[in-house]
Amino acid sequence: MLHALWLFLSLYEPTGKTMIDLHLHSTFSDGSFSPEQIVREAKKANLSAIALTDHDSVSGVALFLKACERESLRGIPGVEISVDYPRGTMHILGYFIDCSSRELNVHIEKLKAGRAARNRDILKKINNLGIPLSMAEVAAFAGEDNVGRLHFAQALVARGYVKTNQEAFDRYLAKGKSGYAERQRLTPRGGVEMILNAGGLASLAHPFTLELSPPELEKQVSELAHAGLQGIEVYYPQHNPNLVKRYLALAQKFNLIATGGTDFHGKPMPDIKIGRGFGSLNVPDSVLTRLEERRK
Ligand SMILES: [Zn+2]
Ligand SMILES: [Zn+2]
Repeated sequence: MLHALWLFLSLYEPTGKTMIDLHLHSTFSDGSFSPEQIVREAKKANLSAIALTDHDSVSGVALFLKACERESLRGIPGVEISVDYPRGTMHILGYFIDCSSRELNVHIEKLKAGRAARNRDILKKINNLGIPLSMAEVAAFAGEDNVGRLHFAQALVARGYVKTNQEAFDRYLAKGKSGYAERQRLTPRGGVEMILNAGGLASLAHPFTLELSPPELEKQVSELAHAGLQGIEVYYPQHNPNLVKRYLALAQKFNLIATGGTDFHGKPMPDIKIGRGFGSLNVPDSVLTRLEERRK
């Protein structure tokens, strides 16, 4: 999912010798680059290690790891799990996951089935409003990605029912609107446990999207840490120096590894460059060293 762009630039200064990027999306979720193209971009940007973290999917990981091997780049199998969170958005990153894990794949299949059922509900509601959209029309906007609300919005725009994706959400697709349908997700604890059971390390992605006050965030991080969370995403394009400092303090307090990455999507977020974010992000390779130590 795309997050609102903050205009702040991260002023984090490099301490490692080489740079890494532990948050990347490919065409197997909502990115515009194939796993192979991502690897080539990372090589051009002189990164030493990268993690593919598609939304609720590990289908691109095998291709990604092969491409990393060809380019002599360190590749980390990853995923970004969306969990149920009443307020803002909660995503949990998983690193070093075993993509053949039965539990992980059963969950991903369940999420897929839940998403398909939800899409049918949305379509029915929209059809009941007198809009004759078909699922094939909507799916055409998704490509290899899972069909989601954004693709309904794009179909509504193409049909001329609304002018922009935002208008489609405001009129039909947002929570509480006539075309909205709930979907089933894992609880935050369930998301962390699933990653751990797949042999991975779990890190809380872009904590600001939880939309919590500092004391509320601390309580939430404490609960996740008890569930087995090992990291918190500190270095991120939209994190200003103040947030970096706050999240570093949380990492220290709960013995979490400060992870980081650009949340690179390619064309959907053209201002975000791989490895660099808005230009000054610099995730040191020492982050990876710490993750590897925690794996042992
Ligand atoms: Zn995310
Ligand atoms: Zn992401």
